[in-house]
Amino acid sequence: MKTGTVTLVGRPNVGKSTLLNALLGEKIAIVSDKPQTTRSRILGVVHRPGAQIVLLDTPGIHTPRHELNKRMVRTAMEATEEADLLYVMVEATGPPQAGDRAVFRHVREQLTAAPRPVFLLINKVDVVNKARVLPLIADYSRLMEWTEIVPVSALEGDNVDRLVELTIKFLPEGEAPFGEETLTDQPMRALAAELIREKLFLKTQQEVPYAAAVEIDDFKEEGKLARIAATIFVEKDSQKGIVVGKGGALLKAVGTEARLEMERLFGMKVFLQLWVKVRAGWREDERALEELGY
Ligand code: GDP
Ligand code: MG
Repeated sequence: MKTGTVTLVGRPNVGKSTLLNALLGEKIAIVSDKPQTTRSRILGVVHRPGAQIVLLDTPGIHTPRHELNKRMVRTAMEATEEADLLYVMVEATGPPQAGDRAVFRHVREQLTAAPRPVFLLINKVDVVNKARVLPLIADYSRLMEWTEIVPVSALEGDNVDRLVELTIKFLPEGEAPFGEETLTDQPMRALAAELIREKLFLKTQQEVPYAAAVEIDDFKEEGKLARIAATIFVEKDSQKGIVVGKGGALLKAVGTEARLEMERLFGMKVFLQLWVKVRAGWREDERALEELGY
């Protein structure tokens, strides 16, 4: 068996979580068009004949303004320490950015401490002219020494099989750490909370998605039914008003969409109850962050 841990890093919004889901063939990491959607390390187990890849998706590396974000960046940094191989993701849609260079600096430090293969993944090639990819490869080759440079589309699945093939070549021999059916180490409660947070990210704007956190108050399985009660925390009354929406419409839409995805993912009927509460300054509050699982 070829097996090992691969940590996926990059600046926010380049498509890391989309790639994790593409490699698993199942959505376990939430995705949105906004940066900093992912707040914790998400483990996915990629099963292929003769190989098992433990893939760690991470929050985007950025300059943090809140204690929450400091923890997010620290989480990403720490996840690189356990990797046998690193994926560094950038976008094909433009030239290398300052944010990418900051990621490379961190990765270079990691590799100096413990040399390992490092792949550059140039994502979102589906939206650029093929002719623009070669000059990009040249630009990135000048910035760092890469074991492989792999253009991909996480969204369309382009070149993803090739990426897996190359990855397996560089992984050590060993015993598979997870069972054949295991997709993730996240418990159902955590997946449920994340799906609710994803719908909030998709349906609210500006500060609201960033000021929201989700806590599962109760999760009961009764045969083929899951009864879930969850609280959405926001920082201000005005944000609570937005999340509830006119006549409760937004909260209802969040609940319905999250529930439908939970039912598909869990293979069960779901009964979901949502509350919204204000917890002022939770993003800066060490105790609140611990309680919310950050
Ligand atoms: P992350 O912050 O790096 O985890 O990025 P996400 O996976 O959350 O994706 C950020 C945005 O980029 C979402 O709107 C995705 O749909 C989009 N995206 C991700 N991969 C691709 C891709 O290969 N092509 C295109 N066109 N969009 C992508
Ligand atoms: Mg993500």
